[in-house]
Amino acid sequence: MYDFNYHKPGSVDEAIQLFLGAQDGVYLAGGHTLLPSMKQRLAAPTDVIDLAGIEGLSGVKSVGSDIEIGALTAHDEVANSPVVQSVIPALAELASLIGDAQVRNRGTIGGSVANSDPAADYPAGVLGLGAEIITNKRSITADDFFTAMFETALEEGELIIKIKFLRPKAAAYVKFPNPASRYATVGVFIARTGSGIRVAITGAAPSVFRSTDMEEALTRDFSVEALEGIRLDDGEMNSDLHATAEYRAHLCTVMAKRAVRKLL
Ligand SMILES: Cc1cc2nc3c(=O)[nH]c(=O)nc-3n(C[C@H](O)[C@H](O)[C@H](O)COP(=O)(O)OP(=O)(O)OC[C@H]3O[C@@H](n4cnc5c(N)ncnc54)[C@H](O)[C@@H]3O)c2cc1C
Repeated sequence: MYDFNYHKPGSVDEAIQLFLGAQDGVYLAGGHTLLPSMKQRLAAPTDVIDLAGIEGLSGVKSVGSDIEIGALTAHDEVANSPVVQSVIPALAELASLIGDAQVRNRGTIGGSVANSDPAADYPAGVLGLGAEIITNKRSITADDFFTAMFETALEEGELIIKIKFLRPKAAAYVKFPNPASRYATVGVFIARTGSGIRVAITGAAPSVFRSTDMEEALTRDFSVEALEGIRLDDGEMNSDLHATAEYRAHLCTVMAKRAVRKLL
């Protein structure tokens, strides 16, 4: 790890000023991705801005029938939140399936979403539920947020404050976990929302995406059989030592069928 300046601001404004004044600043949430990258010298920021001292960035809040989750909220808190369990049980379950107990106690929803790892679970829930990512300057819809592998619509220094989820009519998440890390080899989140059915897939491609073929089939007939014969394009899938593109494409339909079965 290279030397860096460490800062612990007490407010969002201070964090942003520190970022803007740094040569190459980076925000630190739980450090679960950032610190290993720095240890391996894949990242060498001049200034690390720790968000842990900022009040109000953590916690689950029920707002009417919806939920707001602070960016710094750990996965374990989401998994065990009575509010999330009662309003969007599929999101609580998704959080409970992330990594192991250590990872769930340190990793945060804001860090996961900002990182946009192609195999992370939260992007599927955020996109599947059509959530809104609220930053220090604007609100970004999930459909516009995840732009590419490890890339998002966040601008330089933009800070995620919270994520706002609308209550779906019903939702389910099913993943085929990597047996070592528990990251999703493929994970499928299906939600029946007021504006229609949404199917979001993580782990399969460079970035989380919606399957319009599956959404259209399930809108016509919400059944496991409706997905029979849907085969996503191998050419769009990731291929690595864990799974070939062909296998991932196959898993997308299998996981989607399981999610529909769970919903029924
Ligand atoms: C062994 C292991 C197993 C894991 N298994 C899984 C798994 O099964 N499923 C899964 O989904 N994830 C998994 N993860 C990822 C983990 O759950 C974290 O979500 C992820 O590493 C992000 O970590 P963090 O929240 O600590 O953010 P950090 O590492 O602190 O930050 C990550 C990035 O996000 C940026 N950032 C953080 N917060 C904000 C913010 N509020 N606004 C803007 N930018 C911000 C940082 O600057 C940095 O670039 C695993 C991680 C490990 C180490």
